[in-house]
Amino acid sequence: MLLIKQIPVLNDNYLFMIYDQITRTSGCVDPAVSEPLINELEKENLGLDFILNTHHHFDHVGANLDLKKKYGCKIVGSQKDSKRIPGIDIMLGEGDIFNFGRSTCRVLEVSGHTNGHIAFYFKEDNCIFCGDTLFSLGCGRLFEGSPKQMVESLSKIRSLPDHTKIYCAHEYTLNNAEFALSIDPKNGVLKRKVLEIKEKRSQNIPTVPALLSEEKKLNPFLNFDNKEFIKRIGIEDISSTDNFRVIREMKDKF
Ligand SMILES: [Zn+2]
Repeated sequence: MLLIKQIPVLNDNYLFMIYDQITRTSGCVDPAVSEPLINELEKENLGLDFILNTHHHFDHVGANLDLKKKYGCKIVGSQKDSKRIPGIDIMLGEGDIFNFGRSTCRVLEVSGHTNGHIAFYFKEDNCIFCGDTLFSLGCGRLFEGSPKQMVESLSKIRSLPDHTKIYCAHEYTLNNAEFALSIDPKNGVLKRKVLEIKEKRSQNIPTVPALLSEEKKLNPFLNFDNKEFIKRIGIEDISSTDNFRVIREMKDKF
C-alpha cells in the first residue's frame, strides 16, 4: 500500500511524500522545496529513491537537483518535456507503467496547463497525482496548451473510477468554489460544499485530496458536456471544447 504524506509548502502548494513501508521505497511528487520533505523523510527514517514530476514549473521541480545531490534519487518525468525537467533520469509517456515499491503507477499524458504535463495514476491505491491539471472545483490555467487538449486531459481523469482520490498540487479550492457558485448560484449541493470548504479552510484543514465522484458533480471544468449545466449557467452550448473555453475564460476574469 502506498502511504502518502501531504506537506504544505510555499503559499499554497502541496508536496507529496510517498512511501511503501514494507519495501522502504520512498519518493515525492513535485518538490518545490527540499527542507520540509527532508524533515519528514528523517522522521520516518527514509532516504529518497524517486522524484515524480508532473510538469516543469518551478514550484514543482524547484528542489529536484538539491534532492538528487543529497540522496542520489532518480527523477521521473515526461519524455516529451525531458529538456525542461531538471535532472531527469526516467522518461515516460502515455500508458507507461512505473513500479513504485509494491504499487503500480500508470502515466497519463494530460497536456493543457503545460505541454508535456503528465499525471501519475496508482490504480490499486485509488489515487492520482495530477499536478496542475485538475484542481478541486477547478482546473489549471492554459499556459501552453489549447482548450481541446485540456478537454481531452480532463476527460481522461474523469473516466477513472469514482472513488479515485485527486491529489492536486495546490490549495485553490475556496477560490474555485466561489467561482463555481458565482456561475451556478442556485446549486444547493454546491452551496453546502462551499460552506464545508470555508469551515475547513478557517481551521487550516486541507481540502486536498478531493474525491472524483464529487468533482464530477460539482467541478464546472468537468461539466463542459453536461447540457443541463451549460443551460443553467447561461452560455451557448456549442461543443465540449468551446463550452470549456468559455468557462475557462470566465474563471480567468473572476
Ligand atoms: Zn504549473
